[in-house]
Amino acid sequence: MQDSIFTKIIKDEIPCHKIYEDDTVLAFLDIHPITTGHMLVVPKKQIEFLWDLDDETYQHVMAVAKKLSNHARVTLNVPFVGAQVIGVDVPHAHIHIIPFTDVSEYHNVPDMSAEPNHGALSATARKLTLI
Ligand code: 5GP
Repeated sequence: MQDSIFTKIIKDEIPCHKIYEDDTVLAFLDIHPITTGHMLVVPKKQIEFLWDLDDETYQHVMAVAKKLSNHARVTLNVPFVGAQVIGVDVPHAHIHIIPFTDVSEYHNVPDMSAEPNHGALSATARKLTLI
């Protein structure tokens, strides 16, 4: 199996704005965020669909998503944190965690062809990191 872009990030072959890591999961900021703090919670094992994870890994990914959502709500001082499972672009299971204040923000459509704003991403990662 070819390594996904997320496996390359997990192997440290590609940089990321890391938020959290343990033996099973890596969480980092999405390079094309819908909102400030938009992060991806990714199991280290490369399985295409979240729904195909073994129960133990799935439950751990969900527990980390819960922990990071509550952490983002407090740290970024926002009332809401949404979650999405899409998986159309990257064939490696992940959950999008999206902090927001107004529902219109949650429906932002980022320009996927834009150059990532690494300055803004690292400032957000510094606030959110749980490493
Ligand atoms: P999905 O597969 O859920 O449809 O979308 C994949 C998400 O991964 C997109 O929101 C996209 O911006 C993000 N993404 C794709 N490549 C990279 C990357 O190299 N680094 C990071 N941090 N995010 C990425």
